[in-house]
Amino acid sequence: MRVLIAAFKQETSSFNPHPTTRDLFSIHRGDEILDAYSGTNTEIAGALDTFAEHDVEVIPTYSAQSITSGGPVPKVDLDQITDELIAEVERHPDVDGAYINFHGAMAGEEEFDPEGRVLERVRKILGDKPIVTSFDLHAIISDRLIEDSDILVAFHTYPHTDMYETGKRAASNLVHLLEGGIKPTVASVRVPLLVRGDELLTATGLFGQAIRTCQEFEATSDGLSAAVIIGNPFTDVPNLRTNTIVTTDNDPRRAREVAESLARFMWNRRERMQAPLTSLDDAIEIANETDGLVVFSDAADATSSGASGDSNAILRGLLESGFSKRALLPLVDAPAVAKAFEAGVGNTIQVALGGTVDTERFSPVDCEAYVQSLHDGVFTVEQGTTERAGKTAVLTAESCTIMVTENPVSIMGRKVFEARGLNPVDFDLCICKSPNGFRTYFQDIAAAIVPVDVPGSTSANLKSLPFEHVTRPVYPLDGDATAELVAEAKA
Ligand SMILES: [Zn+2]
Repeated sequence: MRVLIAAFKQETSSFNPHPTTRDLFSIHRGDEILDAYSGTNTEIAGALDTFAEHDVEVIPTYSAQSITSGGPVPKVDLDQITDELIAEVERHPDVDGAYINFHGAMAGEEEFDPEGRVLERVRKILGDKPIVTSFDLHAIISDRLIEDSDILVAFHTYPHTDMYETGKRAASNLVHLLEGGIKPTVASVRVPLLVRGDELLTATGLFGQAIRTCQEFEATSDGLSAAVIIGNPFTDVPNLRTNTIVTTDNDPRRAREVAESLARFMWNRRERMQAPLTSLDDAIEIANETDGLVVFSDAADATSSGASGDSNAILRGLLESGFSKRALLPLVDAPAVAKAFEAGVGNTIQVALGGTVDTERFSPVDCEAYVQSLHDGVFTVEQGTTERAGKTAVLTAESCTIMVTENPVSIMGRKVFEARGLNPVDFDLCICKSPNGFRTYFQDIAAAIVPVDVPGSTSANLKSLPFEHVTRPVYPLDGDATAELVAEAKA
């Protein structure tokens, strides 16, 4: 049996003014995909291992994965990436099936459902051959994604640690379809709900209870896939909401019952699945009073959720309050990096920091900074893949150590800092531009974690964001939103 694999991944914050152009994607073709992803904690690696166990021949076609999340993809870039993927798929119309690896929260500047458009075209090429898709649980799910996937699977962890296992689940479903004898029946429920906050942590929070229901379902003989997909709340498109999607082997009634029960579980706990935030003044006071490492979660400028990364709101607060403990902060600022490289290590520069991308929300902070070190920005993250932050300068100003990068990268793990010789445990305060993902790497070393209420294009304070396209009413934007929670069966 021969299957093709392809990947198409980016996560958009519609409120980030910086577009995600094609050059911000890692693009691989053919065997390059195997070189880039084999042996990593990714869906593709998991799928490859499962296919190998079943003697399935894999045709790697095309993979476009954005280096980090960001603003919407311009039409010309989105069209090019889409056409390139489709051209590679078109070379292999004779395969027996396909696995398409999506993130699911991409938006184009003029396209609300880029993944749906890709999948529709792949479906046209492959006809009724089996296609399995996988998604991040922050995906936006359109009807055509459900329609054109034989089986759709999604992550079961947040923070996300089960990328490899998700790829394995996708691949084994595809193997079952190819072997024959199963008939997927799909039911899904649209839940007009956006969720945030630490109840989403699957290990400890309420959301984890829903996910365990999904896992128990998948462990049964006719449970093929169960997903609660909560959407990236910053991808402002009409289909932004929570979806439950359940696939049984030929048991439409059970699919409907499980999908509806998961939907009710989420909806009935909607008030608890929101994010309490701490004001910056209070957060700084906590940092002053706590012994040991304090971690601020700046979810509002979460590059991993699609924000610009140039927020200096916390830096400004620390400098203005005369914070004197050792603080470590990441910042995207290409002009400041250029200035630091021009001056060289060991020199002091007058520099304006931050507010170079999301200029409506942030304005630069002028300060005197010492150039401590300079880097090419290439590093390996915890999950094993290579990331590129562009030129990187480590600056110090007062008691703040600022890791300034040319390009945004996810600020979730510790390796992003360690690669520049900065160990978070050597500091009293570390800023992670991540809502929850950082907890995997910081929980064990942090004396306190404080989600801070500062502005940004991915603020957990959802009402602070200028939504235009999401279908209303939706909770919590509309406190009086109501929900029917009736499952739709896939035709
Ligand atoms: Zn996610």
